[in-house]
Amino acid sequence: MLLTHLHLDHCGGLIDGDGTARFPNAEVVVHAAEVDHWLGGEIGTPSDDDPPWAESVTRRGAAAAVAPYRDRLRTFDCEQLVAPDITAVPLTGHTPGHSGYRVGSGADAILVVGDIVHVPAVQGPRPDASVIFDVDPDAAVDARRTLFAEADRDGIRIAGAHTEFPGVTLVRRVDDGYRLVPDLWVGSIGA
Ligand SMILES: [Zn+2]
Repeated sequence: MLLTHLHLDHCGGLIDGDGTARFPNAEVVVHAAEVDHWLGGEIGTPSDDDPPWAESVTRRGAAAAVAPYRDRLRTFDCEQLVAPDITAVPLTGHTPGHSGYRVGSGADAILVVGDIVHVPAVQGPRPDASVIFDVDPDAAVDARRTLFAEADRDGIRIAGAHTEFPGVTLVRRVDDGYRLVPDLWVGSIGA
């Protein structure tokens, strides 16, 4: 299981409702900074007034999601191969260890980017627009700008959890921003 970060909508599916591992044979791979930030120190108790994206809520949920996998948790802290043909690419900002995973190489590659973009219609033309969930908004903007420029230059597709159907998109430079064009990926790995 290659995790982009430990926000609940990206790791909550690791466990069933009773807290047991939904994927009992899986190894979990995630950036070390995610483990440090969300699972380090005291988890704390969320109050009823905390919004769903509050740190305390996220920390408690992430701890529950990862708990059954603690003895098979593998971390990385830089761009590196984490599985055959799959390279982890740190995209720090949205969260301290937010990362993408590049599958394949060249123009046939696809980069699974997690939460580099939440609202494509806004953050395409305005990549400087941050969202409330960004832990470090300035760094998130930098990561988005860098990634969009590279995707436009290299023609690689990106896949995000919050991009338009079918979840895969090309990035095209338009004026001062970008247009995210829904597309398909028909590449392969291990060929
Ligand atoms: Zn997120």
